[in-house]
Amino acid sequence: MWTCPYCGGNHGLPFHDDHLDGMLCLESDCGRFVEEKMLPDEVREWDYTDF
Ligand SMILES: [Zn+2]
Repeated sequence: MWTCPYCGGNHGLPFHDDHLDGMLCLESDCGRFVEEKMLPDEVREWDYTDF
């Protein structure tokens, strides 16, 4: 399940286009766009890859 890193909400809408790849938070008091690469798990994977 997706969790918004800003508000902790679980309501997200997948959004992908040529420039953006991530999730749009649907919480009424948040509404931020969260890039996939900003998610903690993804960051950890990138670190391992760079090693
Ligand atoms: Zn949110």
